[in-house]
Amino acid sequence: MLYKSTRGDEHLKSSSEAIITGLACDRGLFVPLSIPKLPFTIAEGIKMNYQEVATKIINAFFDDFTETEIEDCVNKAYDEKFDDIRIVPVVKKGKGWFLELYHGKTAAFKDMALSILPYLLKASLKKEKVQDRILILTATSGDTGKAALEGFSGVSGTEIVVFYPEEGVSLIQKMQMVTQEGGNTHVFSVKGNFDDAQKGVKDIFNDEAFKEELKEKNIRLSSANSINIGRLVPQVSYYVYGYLHLVKEGAVKSGEKVNVVVPTGNFGNILAAYYASLMGIPVNMFICASNENKVLTDFLNTGSYDTRREFHVTNSPSMDILVSSNLERLLYLLSNEDGKTIRDLMERLDSEKHYRVDEKIRANLSKFYGGFCTEEETNKTIREMFLENNYLIDTHTAVAYKVYLDYLKETGDETPTLVASTASAYKFAESVALALGLPKEDDEYLYESAIFKMTGVKVPQGLKGLRDKKILHNKTLSISRMKEEVRRI
Ligand SMILES: *Cc1c(COP(=O)(O)O)cnc(C)c1O
Repeated sequence: MLYKSTRGDEHLKSSSEAIITGLACDRGLFVPLSIPKLPFTIAEGIKMNYQEVATKIINAFFDDFTETEIEDCVNKAYDEKFDDIRIVPVVKKGKGWFLELYHGKTAAFKDMALSILPYLLKASLKKEKVQDRILILTATSGDTGKAALEGFSGVSGTEIVVFYPEEGVSLIQKMQMVTQEGGNTHVFSVKGNFDDAQKGVKDIFNDEAFKEELKEKNIRLSSANSINIGRLVPQVSYYVYGYLHLVKEGAVKSGEKVNVVVPTGNFGNILAAYYASLMGIPVNMFICASNENKVLTDFLNTGSYDTRREFHVTNSPSMDILVSSNLERLLYLLSNEDGKTIRDLMERLDSEKHYRVDEKIRANLSKFYGGFCTEEETNKTIREMFLENNYLIDTHTAVAYKVYLDYLKETGDETPTLVASTASAYKFAESVALALGLPKEDDEYLYESAIFKMTGVKVPQGLKGLRDKKILHNKTLSISRMKEEVRRI
């Protein structure tokens, strides 16, 4: 399987080259020449555990690796770092089947991809006989940062740099990052929001003179953001696994359709679901849930993508994003792989902050439903879910569930539905505690025990004792200083 750019560049790359490089040279994103078909039948699949499904799915995309090489990466990634041996438990609560993607080390779904990416990158470097050191640049809305730091801390030949927005991330998210140990880890807060940080990182990637300078020092840039195909592909596995689970449970017969609901920010997670459907998983509707930063809701309803609006800092901060990078990969597919059209749209977004897609692309978007949820509705959903179903969900998952309930009301569509549950409630302890009606505390760390007392849900291992950990990273940068800081590192 070879990889090409969404913006029309003709140079094809192997998967290992695409993983190492991160972003194509024409600023496009790498996509496979075609989406592979499911490498097993449903009857075979339902007998597999998570690791077996992941090995087959990842290997179908990254077939310049042997199955043994991929299996080795998978087994190192999805091991006892996860606090549930199923890796991704699927549980029926209320109207949805919740795909619990947050049982990894940092308690958010980013672990699903970032616990394997370092192994895929190492294997890629070996395959391509690359001797250079790798400098990984990462912009984060809160969860990618910690998951990437955990994944790459101590990995020889790599340095990892994380930029998070000064305002917006939760206390727990921030503490997870600023207490990160490991001599090759670097963490900065930046003056701006996630979009500013992501743009800063992309600008460094596209700075040819700077890349030359690094090359002379035998250093290459790569990315741990979902613009890297090595992060996206492992995420396809859990949608396949979730479908297999519903068949096994008898919720659907083999071949019958399901819906998928995803709380969406950078569009990586929902795109992985779309890739799973192109592989052969039958999906009726992709329900894209946003918070008050509802650019995607408006886009799906009107065909116009418009970032000229206020940026809201919400209680689901990992979705506080206006420029959803991975939408580019979807539009590429829906335009029948028309690189020139995509380049025009993305350049217009850069210069004019908005674009409109043509009728053909719009018609192809009909399998996507967009909805959004306010902070107040998010809180109400957390409370009701707990009172009615004794099930604790975080703010992002609540956004997804609320939008799904709206979809149900509007359409009456009773198709069994997978809901991507993207984080542990304890990562957003203050918001969740207050949503549950617990009293306001002066000391934010007390929310953890208050939630535990009320719900009996265990605090994830990785979030324990954060307040007593030493702060190792405390620098704040303006966006314009990012490159200088990278140069210094
Ligand atoms: C990153 C994140 C999202 C958004 O996922 P995308 O792939 O960026 O759309 C949703 N919820 C949580 C908890 C996240 O960390």
